[in-house]
Amino acid sequence: MLIGVPTEIKNHEYRVGLTPASVRELTHHGHSVLVQAGAGAAIGLDDGHYEAAGAAIVPDAATVFARAEMVVKVKEPQPQECAMLRRGQILFTYLHLAPDPKQTRQLLDSGAVAIAYETVTDSRGGLPLLAPMSEVAGRMSVQAGAHCLEKAQGGRGVLLGGVPGVPAAKVVVLGGGVVGTNAARMAMGLEAKVIVIDKSLPRLKELDLQFGAKLQTLYSTVDTIEEHVLDADLVIGAVLVPGAEAPKLVTRAMVERMRRGAVVVDVAIDQGGCFETSHPTTHAEPTYLVDGVVHYCVANMPGAVARTSTFALNNATLPFTLALADHGYRAALARDPHLRAGLNIHAGAITCKAVADAQGLNY
Ligand code: NAD
Repeated sequence: MLIGVPTEIKNHEYRVGLTPASVRELTHHGHSVLVQAGAGAAIGLDDGHYEAAGAAIVPDAATVFARAEMVVKVKEPQPQECAMLRRGQILFTYLHLAPDPKQTRQLLDSGAVAIAYETVTDSRGGLPLLAPMSEVAGRMSVQAGAHCLEKAQGGRGVLLGGVPGVPAAKVVVLGGGVVGTNAARMAMGLEAKVIVIDKSLPRLKELDLQFGAKLQTLYSTVDTIEEHVLDADLVIGAVLVPGAEAPKLVTRAMVERMRRGAVVVDVAIDQGGCFETSHPTTHAEPTYLVDGVVHYCVANMPGAVARTSTFALNNATLPFTLALADHGYRAALARDPHLRAGLNIHAGAITCKAVADAQGLNY
């Protein structure tokens, strides 16, 4: 199969659909890969690396879209990219179609076969192509939180791990899923005092088995949340109710009673956030203050560590990219119901119930 990788064009997006190692794997399987010149340059993946892996470098996105049988990307296609897609061409990328009727319409009109990373499933009911970005965001949340706790950032001037003779900071993680587990792990690594609050008892049991006495696990109630958020130095919002807006676990009144200079990092902001006082921010201006509490609410945290995120994403997507290339999309989807769950649009029809329901369209 001929696979194409265009340069991402969404604002401040530096990730790239395939790494040179993925290209090598595909060429090893007998496929050909076209990479737009400079596609990985921002994260140190130069055209020479891609050529060495067996790719052909082409000058522009138009050439990639015109020639490739399958286009592999990171972000949802922008309007000018949708316009270049053609009937039967495979598009494998994050789509996030549910809240985006305009993109949905363009993809339907293109006749392309659009397979979304975010709806591919696994045998444990998880979302394996979303998980790597949650791992990145979870780990990053502690790094961001530690920075915000510094005086110059508006924080209360507390070092997460303390020092001998001075207590460590108190870190409260709301939600112990992929983001929360990775956040807790990083905070424990920095020797903070860490509490994870979740409403799933099985999840709390797993965390307890995994981390033992180093981690305190608590069942999620209004009472527990209030008690521990009020005197926390850093609170990380990492809850998810699949398909729904994040529950507002921390009210405005609780934030008002938090310590001045405490920090909240609301990773769940892409689902509306779990603090009543959250609103989305950007990497250019990541924080703002409410009642003296520093809020960090960046909706695309993994974008800041685009190189790590690209490799993490490729580790998860490569088996599926290979399956699509090796067998063709029809056979690949027929063989694997989890990859089939990724099919959002096929030949002008919506093939994902959640997307159809969200937009009131036929499925
Ligand atoms: P996940 O499903 O692995 O974990 C969510 C956890 O929240 C689960 O353990 C669940 O039991 C728990 N939960 C649900 N309701 C709760 C409640 N009322 N009280 C306590 N816990 C509750 O999800 P995840 O992959 O960890 O993602 C978490 C959030 O982070 C999602 O909204 C995701 O979209 C977001 N995210 C944001 C970024 C970013 O850049 N900002 C990046 C990746 C993921």
